[in-house]
Amino acid sequence: MSEPLHEVDAEVARAIAGETRRQNETLELIASENFVSEAVLEAAGSVFTNKYAEGYPGRRYYGGCEFVDQVETLVRERAKQLFGADHVNAQPHSGTQANVAVYMTVCKPGDTLLGMSLAHGGHLTHGHPLNFSGKMYRVVSYGVRQGDERIDYDEMARLAGEHKPRLIVCGASAYPRIIDFKRIHEIASSVGALSMADIAHIAGMVATGLHPNPFPHMDFVTTTTHKTLRGPRGGLIMCREEFAKELDKIVFPGTQGGPLVHIIAAKAVCLREALQPGFADYQKQILANAKTLAASLSSEGFRLVSGGTDNHLMLVDVFSRGVTGKEAEQALEKAGITVNKNAIPFDKNPPLVASGIRIGTPAVTTRGMKEHEMEIIGRLIARVLRSPADAEVQRQVRQSVLDLTDKFPLYPKRLAAIGQ
Ligand SMILES: *Cc1c(COP(=O)(O)O)cnc(C)c1O
Repeated sequence: MSEPLHEVDAEVARAIAGETRRQNETLELIASENFVSEAVLEAAGSVFTNKYAEGYPGRRYYGGCEFVDQVETLVRERAKQLFGADHVNAQPHSGTQANVAVYMTVCKPGDTLLGMSLAHGGHLTHGHPLNFSGKMYRVVSYGVRQGDERIDYDEMARLAGEHKPRLIVCGASAYPRIIDFKRIHEIASSVGALSMADIAHIAGMVATGLHPNPFPHMDFVTTTTHKTLRGPRGGLIMCREEFAKELDKIVFPGTQGGPLVHIIAAKAVCLREALQPGFADYQKQILANAKTLAASLSSEGFRLVSGGTDNHLMLVDVFSRGVTGKEAEQALEKAGITVNKNAIPFDKNPPLVASGIRIGTPAVTTRGMKEHEMEIIGRLIARVLRSPADAEVQRQVRQSVLDLTDKFPLYPKRLAAIGQ
């Protein structure tokens, strides 16, 4: 019961040590990832993992929920304060579970959902045919214009008028520009549709006013807590008071069982961190870093989808320089730089090959890197992608990455404990 992990299970202990080292020694540029604080890790690894707490604060199906109620109430209050929401459900296990709950709150199977196409930057849960959203509902998709690669709101309005959706879903996983929530709300109102913004990626920017807030325009707002918000893996749902009761019933008992109380405790910690003034400085630095990295890649001759970025991420059209997204992802990984291949709008390559890579700055910004380091990273990426098959270039860039990550150690106490 009280032996340490490395004695109980050396294999898992080794894998955790390896992952700690990997995170420390590579440049994490996956736009949806981040590094949580020691405080968030402590809450996520707490004894709350032992507790069953079906129900909601003050109305549980189990005894012993005094302290669970405290942390869940903190999440609700802090999220309300941060995002200006009327009502918060703290229990979704993930961003996907949050979207499941909203759709089931407002739509019957077969109802029409208007969402952003995955191929243009939307998310699987916004109506992809392989996802529950595409199987349960009749999906109509909007996208970006070919000319400027920005959301085509006129097309959205036309599709809304033609198909009369029950729900319009906005928000994206790979869209580098500001989303006009007010305009989308107007389109939804004009056809009697409800509206939902999925701010999974941009939650940290919204919380600090660097991206417009979906409230008061949207009926529902869903988010993950583990991307720019820098909390544990999980989801949150916010909505107008009129939908609160029905939504809570759909989360539990509708689509989930017992909540992950240790994760709810960690969400409370991350929201407290997000309410501190330093968090706004952090988000501003993410943005400044993204703009600097985008300019650096642009000056190295890479085309950026939509010409640049207004948020924490950019889509780089690597095929404009003769490299596929798949080749770019693999070559960069060998050099210690982690990104993901990503389709670009109107992509001519299939999704598993793709013409682009998606790059985000939240994780490297958490480590303390600033504009100067972004210029170095831009040059390193360009060097690898100019000769993606050159192992010697990859070896040299790998060494430069180690020199850089060495200056910004991640989880120093944990590194010391594994002898790094
Ligand atoms: C990441 C993401 C999600 C899903 O989050 P999971 O926690 O992976 O289920 C949903 N919507 C958008 C827009 C996302 O980017």
